[in-house]
Amino acid sequence: MQLLERIQSIRPLWLTRVTQHLARGAGVRENFRDQLERFYGLLEQAVESGDPAWLDTILADWSLSLTQSDLEESQGNLTQVLTPMLVMTHEVTRENLSPDEAMDVLGALLPCFSYCLEKAAEYEMNARVAYISHQLSQAQQTLERLDRSKSDFIAVAAHELKTPLTLVEGYSSMLREVVPDGEDAPETAFLDGISSGTRRLRTIIDDMIDVSLIDNNLLSLNFQPVWINRLLGVLRPELEKHTYVRQQILDLCEFPGSTELTFGDPERLLQVFRNVLMNAVKYTPDGGKIVVDGRKLPGFVEMTVTDTGIGIDTEDQQIIFEKFGRLGNSALHSSGKSKFKGGGPGLGLHIAKGIVEAHGGAIWVESAGYDEVKCPGSIFHVLLPLQAEPPDDKTAKLFAPLFQQRAPK
Ligand code: ADP
Repeated sequence: MQLLERIQSIRPLWLTRVTQHLARGAGVRENFRDQLERFYGLLEQAVESGDPAWLDTILADWSLSLTQSDLEESQGNLTQVLTPMLVMTHEVTRENLSPDEAMDVLGALLPCFSYCLEKAAEYEMNARVAYISHQLSQAQQTLERLDRSKSDFIAVAAHELKTPLTLVEGYSSMLREVVPDGEDAPETAFLDGISSGTRRLRTIIDDMIDVSLIDNNLLSLNFQPVWINRLLGVLRPELEKHTYVRQQILDLCEFPGSTELTFGDPERLLQVFRNVLMNAVKYTPDGGKIVVDGRKLPGFVEMTVTDTGIGIDTEDQQIIFEKFGRLGNSALHSSGKSKFKGGGPGLGLHIAKGIVEAHGGAIWVESAGYDEVKCPGSIFHVLLPLQAEPPDDKTAKLFAPLFQQRAPK
């Protein structure tokens, strides 16, 4: 008998044995016997032609039929089917052919099976990689959708809250006109309470609007000549009110670059400095120290705000610049503008980052870690481009008189 005839002679036995065995297993699909017949036919062709690539098509088809649960499991499903097939080929051959014939047949079939196992592993890996990439892109789309709806929610909520807040503010100022004068009057205390509440609410709503402007790339800057030391000078009295209450030392140094003219949006830059500095006050215990210093770099000025506060863990140093990136248990946060650890909604640093980046700068933090007892402190860096020329024609025209005055005669 020729080799091929021997292989064909064991075909019915092989089919019955393999079908029965695999039918007991879980991974059996419909038309399994038809599939096995096709496999065996291709196996014969592979042996006849000496080219195991005949089996590629069926292996590729089988890998395409992998189900989601097959792909989620890390074990190879195809290889799990091929391995018993190989074992049973061995058994059927040994049982039904003479030892010499069996050696012959196995010698021809084994290379085909090892080719199949190799190919199956490759197809399975490709299918799994494609599946995981698909899952990843779906997760990314979901995240983007969530982020968009968060931004939309912020924008809508902020605008919807603004109108009733304006009404409360309007009516309370009218009330102030009609209630009797005098600091001791109980009505004055009530009205002060309403005012401070509405002020706080307005800050939060303004912050929410700023976040939605930043997230939608709608933040527009009003470029004007600014001097960093002057902006810090404007903030000084406001900050000292809080550092006085908290018995903290505030050291605002004049550093190289801080006295130079640069173009920026003064209101927005004040907002950045206020957010970073008020955080330094809030997250530094009573009696601590806050130092503002910096240096001039080629084309940039770098301001640093160093505090002796509770510090920030390395893994949180990126998170705090994300929106709602407040740390710790929100239920434990004390409220209040300058109270120790008096956390807010977690928008301040996200806004600061948006403003600094809109100026073409960068903001980041350095800290040895979070420790409320040892207080390792934090250093916030604000890097801004030193831009001595107006950034656009409109600004140039607006400030032309200033530059003509300064130009040498
Ligand atoms: P919040 O309104 O909570 O202050 P921010 O965006 O300003 O929001 O800050 C985010 C979080 O970063 C804060 O909740 C706080 O945990 C942390 N953080 C900010 N500044 C400091 C600092 N100087 N020292 C320690 N932690 C800080």
